[in-house]
Amino acid sequence: MSFLRPLLTLAAAVAILASTYFAILEIAESKADGLAGGETFVLDSRHGAESAAFSGLLARLGEWDEEGLAASLVSLRDAGHIHVAPRLGGGRSAVYVNALGLVSRIYLRGDNLVLRGLPFPDLDIPERAQRTFAMIRLAGTLVHELAHYGGIEDEDAAYDREIEWYRQLGERNADRLAGDERRLFDWALASALASAEAAREKAVPTPRPAQGR
Ligand SMILES: [Zn+2]
Repeated sequence: MSFLRPLLTLAAAVAILASTYFAILEIAESKADGLAGGETFVLDSRHGAESAAFSGLLARLGEWDEEGLAASLVSLRDAGHIHVAPRLGGGRSAVYVNALGLVSRIYLRGDNLVLRGLPFPDLDIPERAQRTFAMIRLAGTLVHELAHYGGIEDEDAAYDREIEWYRQLGERNADRLAGDERRLFDWALASALASAEAAREKAVPTPRPAQGR
């Protein structure tokens, strides 16, 4: 019958479009993988150590009264948009990558997530404080990358969100802790904030007013 021919032509056109889409998607995925240093993989239960470390981070966020951030991270992970980048360069612990408008992901550096080794091995700071620092810093970095993921392109605005988050974390936990626990947390939080501010200085050249001499 004659209407079969246009129908077949349409099916062929759809098939070609679909295969073109998947070919371009594959290019976007490999581009994203390359930008994150290569050899990346999606964060899921097949990767036990990374998965457990991520669950540990979510648990800490719960303790810190940061359920909103934890929920955002869970839905991003469940959608397959959080990936692990074992070779992420530039001293970064996480990065948001958008390739060709098709692939939108947050990559976490593997050794930073699993925390192999302490952040300040040479400092005489208790291990627990160092690990809390690393956890706060990683969470703050995720706040920053989530801002990019949500459409904020401006680096300064993303740092504003991140730094505001550290401040709020301090306020939310001010009454919860006391004694040594409090001192440990305060040190970790202040160090994370200082570290983020140093990263911001490096990333965003702030225009300085000309100084008359
Ligand atoms: Zn950024």
